[in-house]
Amino acid sequence: MKKAFIYKLRLNRAQEAKLSEMLETCRHLYNHALAERKEAWEQEQQSVCFAAQSASLPLLKQENAYLPRVHSQVLQDVLHRVDRAYQAFFRRCKTGEKPGYPRFRGRGWYDSFTFPQWDNGAKFADGRLVLSKIGSLRVCTDRPLEGQPKTCSIIRRADGWYATIVCEVEPVALEPTGETVGIDLGIETFATLSTGEQVANPKHYRRAEQVLKKAQRRVSRRKKGSNRRRKAKVLLAKAHLKVKRARLDHAHKVARELVERFDVLHVEKLNIRGMLKNHPLAKSISDAGWGLFLNILRSKAASAGKTVVEVNPAYTSQVCSHCGERVPKKLSQRWHSCPYCACSLHRDHNAALNILQKGGGTAIGERLATATS
Ligand SMILES: [Zn+2]
Repeated sequence: MKKAFIYKLRLNRAQEAKLSEMLETCRHLYNHALAERKEAWEQEQQSVCFAAQSASLPLLKQENAYLPRVHSQVLQDVLHRVDRAYQAFFRRCKTGEKPGYPRFRGRGWYDSFTFPQWDNGAKFADGRLVLSKIGSLRVCTDRPLEGQPKTCSIIRRADGWYATIVCEVEPVALEPTGETVGIDLGIETFATLSTGEQVANPKHYRRAEQVLKKAQRRVSRRKKGSNRRRKAKVLLAKAHLKVKRARLDHAHKVARELVERFDVLHVEKLNIRGMLKNHPLAKSISDAGWGLFLNILRSKAASAGKTVVEVNPAYTSQVCSHCGERVPKKLSQRWHSCPYCACSLHRDHNAALNILQKGGGTAIGERLATATS
């Protein structure tokens, strides 16, 4: 199982300048490799593969004074990125989609480079990160590495530079608890469990969102190309980061707690892409980060030896979880009151119970003493 450890880098001016130069060199190589493939295809209907581009690197290095200042495996990784962009492009062509052609990266649109092999250009020494051709960098190490480090990526973000080190770790199975649950994801409330508990949206999220909106308005007010607009854009990018991080931290925390408590977790099978196209709440759905949360939940469950069951989402909010009759209601109706059996509970709680039952789980009150294996 892979696990990423992210550390903020504490750089001085000279180190920052060196990293920026490396990033810029990688960007140029990326664009160069892309152009080569594009031209070969358009002019001679030839495709250029990774191996050919990799083999021509030494020659390129002789012509370009910047390339030798970057570790050779990092350069190889840039070529791999171009290759992956192409593979993805062809794969999507094959499935009948209409993907955009891989893009040239403008200044500011290329923000990371990778040492694909730990200890080969990147390593820790005395609590500092040592990078080839850069030197030793101060890092904020609040969390020590676990497992076997594999790759190291250096990333430029709106609020500074980061190192992401991906490690191979042994999965640790959690003790079974014998509990199962249905989880209904929402927008006002992040999630509602079949036990009736509600999980609120991330704390500070509303505030971070307001800051983000303000920053967006500020950018649009300022004159294009002006220095003030450029500064406003930096603030906007920082606000975006803050919202993104709040959501990610929250998703990890909630997923961890759920996986610790329950052995089988039932969720709706969501077609997020389809939803984003057709749903009246599309923006809120993507903001709520359901896809992100489900991915994290699935991966945490898998490594802990727990199970995520996806159920068909049809009618989970309309059917009465107690008697099974259809009780149609609008999205604005927050309460489920069943005219057939007089069952009355919060709409999302009712949905969570339905999700649990659809997956073969039993609701509270009628829970059987069956051990889940
Ligand atoms: Zn009913």
